[in-house]
Amino acid sequence: MNIKENLKNIHNNIPENVTLVAVSKTKPVADLQEAYNAGQRVFGENKIQEMVEKFEVLPKDIKWHMIGHLQSNKVKYMANFVDLIHGVDKFSTLKEINKQAQKHDRIINCLLQAKIAKEDTKFGLSFEDIEEILNSSELKDLENIKIVGFMGMATFTDNQEQLNEEFSALNTFFEVQKLKTVSKNCQLNTLSMGMSGDYQLAIENGSTMIRVGSSIFGSRNYN
Ligand SMILES: *Cc1c(COP(=O)(O)O)cnc(C)c1O
Repeated sequence: MNIKENLKNIHNNIPENVTLVAVSKTKPVADLQEAYNAGQRVFGENKIQEMVEKFEVLPKDIKWHMIGHLQSNKVKYMANFVDLIHGVDKFSTLKEINKQAQKHDRIINCLLQAKIAKEDTKFGLSFEDIEEILNSSELKDLENIKIVGFMGMATFTDNQEQLNEEFSALNTFFEVQKLKTVSKNCQLNTLSMGMSGDYQLAIENGSTMIRVGSSIFGSRNYN
């Protein structure tokens, strides 16, 4: 595994306006440092504890993205530094993020996680639930968060047609909401979809941010 080469290959294959999040969960700090030395600045982790430990020892100009399912009671540990939270799928979580961000006098960017996969196991909100959140009057009171877009995880399958359908549905919804929903703490400009196996297809379907782990750092033994 050559992390630098892998990053170069991916960058050669994606448009410049697409942000590459290097998903470094379970990987040792040395691997992240190697990616950093090759120019990578955006890293994604799925456990708050692990992200905090890595944040503490790595350079401070790294942008840390929380991509995992959120436990509200742990939001406080990352509120002082997290750059973007991808996996928000409850209004109560937005309130907790707002509360913790306020303590640090920060505005934390969030993505609402949409359920696009056909599988039962994936977290996420239905499009109706997302609309309800975006239109709720309570949202305007959350002055220390900003909803900047949506995140989606497609079904774990090789079926390109199905993946295409799932990505395309979220992109269509995103494009509509982008025009409809504009307020101080809601400006939709980010669509986070696509992982190692499906990022090309996701980009064809409008993704502006891909979350790539194994194609950069090699396979993981556990998640
Ligand atoms: C692990 C993970 C990824 C990266 O998966 P790869 O297949 O290794 O690229 C992307 N998004 C989320 C939410 C993840 O948990």
